[in-house]
Amino acid sequence: MDDAARYGEAVKAAYDAFSKLEGGANASYIPYLASVPAHLVGLTLVFTDGQLFSQGDSDYRFAIESISKVATLALALEQHGPAVIQAKLGADPTGMPFNSVTALELHDDRPQSPLVNAGAMATVSLIKAENAEDRWARIRAMQSSLVGHPVELSDEVNHSEQTTNFHNRAIAWLLYSAGTLYSDPMEACMVYTRQCSTLISCRDLAVFGATLASGGRNPLTGEQVLQAANVPPILAEMTMEGLYETSGDWAYTVGLPGKSGVGGGVVAVMPGKGAIAGFSPPLDPSGNSVRGQRMVAALAQALGWNLYRVPEA
Ligand code: GLU
Repeated sequence: MDDAARYGEAVKAAYDAFSKLEGGANASYIPYLASVPAHLVGLTLVFTDGQLFSQGDSDYRFAIESISKVATLALALEQHGPAVIQAKLGADPTGMPFNSVTALELHDDRPQSPLVNAGAMATVSLIKAENAEDRWARIRAMQSSLVGHPVELSDEVNHSEQTTNFHNRAIAWLLYSAGTLYSDPMEACMVYTRQCSTLISCRDLAVFGATLASGGRNPLTGEQVLQAANVPPILAEMTMEGLYETSGDWAYTVGLPGKSGVGGGVVAVMPGKGAIAGFSPPLDPSGNSVRGQRMVAALAQALGWNLYRVPEA
């Protein structure tokens, strides 16, 4: 069997093993997400040379949600550099749910990470732009470059979120009152909510991850989307907080930087090699796709992808 056939088999094996797994529930605090069919499942593997292998509903477009935080972080890093990002947004796990107010209170209203809601809104507020529309356009352009084609804002998801995001609005005001949010708070919350409401497929998500794996160069379009020097800080942030308060468990069992979103997407990145993306809406209590995590973990293991594994001599 040649390499391509082996990779195709490995993707199929991980998909077959976990695509019917029971358990978990769609996110329900955002009305749109509760309505997405729970049986949908996709798995995609993309290498840094552009080879791509998919199974299941890999072209179904779902809400990017929290995974958008990685794209906006990339843009903020490009504009400000790692030192400013670390100082203003942090690089530590909160150990608490992604929208925790307690986490802020425990840390002097500092978000700790750009990958929790507080830090993500602070990241939006740092983006240099002329106005709110320009800020949004730049964020959307970064998402588009990472996946390799223009991403679409879902009016349905956006409306569902903008009309229910009261908790995030409260967080934005708390940050602003403490001086840790750097634009109008309601504008930051509105743009953040939009960035969560674009649609991507499992295939797009794997390309997004593979762009990070190849030092910021999109393996399908060839575009150098961000500086290679900004990739390690992104992967470090993903390691610390990418799978919410179970990021440590993910590092322990999978050993790859990852990011999930409450839309059911999850991606893991193997620097220099490629990325694996899984999608399925039912989530565990922390907000990570139940099937997505298991498929991605199984495929990573089959490929021998684990950053902490010592290569055999
Ligand atoms: N738009 C969602 C929120 O702000 C994203 C959460 C997530 O995927 O973690 O609550």
